[in-house]
Amino acid sequence: MTSLRTSVLIVGGGPVGSTLALDLAGRGIDVIVAEQNPPDTQPGVKCNHVAARTMEIFRRLGIAGRVRDAGLPPDHANDVAFRTTAVGPDFARIHIPCRRDRYSDRSGPDGWWPTPEPPHRINQIYLDPLLAAEAAAHPRVRFLNRLRLQGFTQDETGVTAEALDLDRGGKVAISCAYLVGCDGPASEVRRQIGARMTGDAMIGRTQSSYIRAPGLAARLQAAPAWSTQVMNPRRSANMFAVDGRETWLVHNYLRADEEDFEAVDGDACLRHILGVEPSFGIEVISRENWIGRRLLADRFRDRRAFICGDAAHIWAPFAGYGMNAGIADATNLAWMLAGVLKGWADPAVLAAHEAERWPITEQVSKYAMGTALSLARARAGVPADIEAVGERGDAVRVALGSRLLEMHTPQFCCGGLNFGSFYDRSPIVAYDGEPAPTYTMDTFTPSTVPGCRTPHVWMEDGRSLYDALGLDFTLLRFDRSIDVAGLVEAAALRGVPLAVLDLAAQAPYRQKLVLSRPDQHVAWRGDLLPSDALSLIDRIRGAPVA
Ligand SMILES: Cc1cc2nc3c(=O)[nH]c(=O)nc-3n(C[C@H](O)[C@H](O)[C@H](O)COP(=O)(O)OP(=O)(O)OC[C@H]3O[C@@H](n4cnc5c(N)ncnc54)[C@H](O)[C@@H]3O)c2cc1C
Repeated sequence: MTSLRTSVLIVGGGPVGSTLALDLAGRGIDVIVAEQNPPDTQPGVKCNHVAARTMEIFRRLGIAGRVRDAGLPPDHANDVAFRTTAVGPDFARIHIPCRRDRYSDRSGPDGWWPTPEPPHRINQIYLDPLLAAEAAAHPRVRFLNRLRLQGFTQDETGVTAEALDLDRGGKVAISCAYLVGCDGPASEVRRQIGARMTGDAMIGRTQSSYIRAPGLAARLQAAPAWSTQVMNPRRSANMFAVDGRETWLVHNYLRADEEDFEAVDGDACLRHILGVEPSFGIEVISRENWIGRRLLADRFRDRRAFICGDAAHIWAPFAGYGMNAGIADATNLAWMLAGVLKGWADPAVLAAHEAERWPITEQVSKYAMGTALSLARARAGVPADIEAVGERGDAVRVALGSRLLEMHTPQFCCGGLNFGSFYDRSPIVAYDGEPAPTYTMDTFTPSTVPGCRTPHVWMEDGRSLYDALGLDFTLLRFDRSIDVAGLVEAAALRGVPLAVLDLAAQAPYRQKLVLSRPDQHVAWRGDLLPSDALSLIDRIRGAPVA
């Protein structure tokens, strides 16, 4: 048996595992990623939306530019169009700037967002290999393909995992301090830590076809779009442009009475959705029948083993936030693990991961399910005369269009999920009694209430605050006359890496001091240092506080 040793073993090199590897490695931690698939495996054609918050994380990891440069052609529309067939005219449209104009075009519902990194539209078939390649290229990451985790044992000193070398057939033993299962919806790590998935097992059925249709672009009557929402009395669907030229992902939503995937004529449905005749050339590259669910693991951890991403939660992809929530899990866990492994955080800090992430993922899953159900209701009530020609039909389409804009804009421009979520029951956040502002899927109020995302502002020298934050804790000081030596010394005494950053006063910062965590969430704020600075440092590093 081959034996390997590392600090953190990550099982699964999907988008969550790769991001976790990059985050840990960037913090100086050695990592092995065990991925069962070969490196050239084509990922599932699933996720199409990288959230602004995820792009902020990628910016911190130094890969936002390369992610932004991949996917659809630079000038391909990122808009969401509403049509009765894919080739028909628009009856409504949400404008989202193409990636060439993403940093400059402020029009559209998300143009005002307070972020240096707006969202990015890219399919997972481009994103996953890019993230895996970035992780594999990092000198602290050993990205081992064709290695399938089979089991592990753990005690108070570490974890020993057993994996199968799928090419050579032998066993590989991997000793590590911590193991993180980023091994997707059928997670073996989840099974082994005894976590159970609970929630709503059935929200709706969808038949997804990844198609190549070289003649389709020439048939479009309206300007291209990234997402085309089709509604007609025969079918309802959502169609994503994948390469911006000839490939699309078509989600054909089955009706409530269509309980058997096999009984649905997928090819006929495609033609009803596209609005093309039977002889029109469509190649189905792959097809997947899937059931929308809302399921959360009842625990994200057993001692030294954790689960992140789809291993911990799955929900219907409305609001496009499954992968993005998984990446948020990874970045939440990375700094805590790094702190423990470097010795400045108490191992008890690791309890904060589940305490912080579980309530957020539950909240997001409910937003996603609520959207899925209300869209299903809208699909069930498509007006019979939606395709009528002339004024009567126009009036029906205008009315439906404004209703659909109201329903869809929050999910396609989900600012609340990006910037509104907060950690309100964390053992390592120093709360001060003010509740965090409530948020919805799309609405939010930037806030420095401890637990919230550290609000982004542009600095006087034009830099993004996020580019100026240290890798670890940063004390933002809005009044240079305040002596912060007490906190700096307390941090040094415990070995907690802390930088001080002086900034000009500006909203939404009201307090003169704000302590930002390594994951850009507020740990503490005040106008003066607390009388017992050491207790604050102990709280944020997970140590017992007197
Ligand atoms: C139709 C659809 C559309 C979606 N759209 C969006 C969207 O727009 N935005 C969004 O945020 N999310 C979206 N999602 C969700 C998104 O695809 C997932 O949340 C995301 O892929 C989860 O990433 P992950 O890394 O956790 O898991 P996965 O992508 O499943 O990766 C897990 C990896 O672990 C490996 N693995 C599994 N078991 C083992 C083992 N025992 N040993 C070694 N390796 C193992 C697998 O080979 C795989 O590479 C969508 C999902 C669907 C179905």
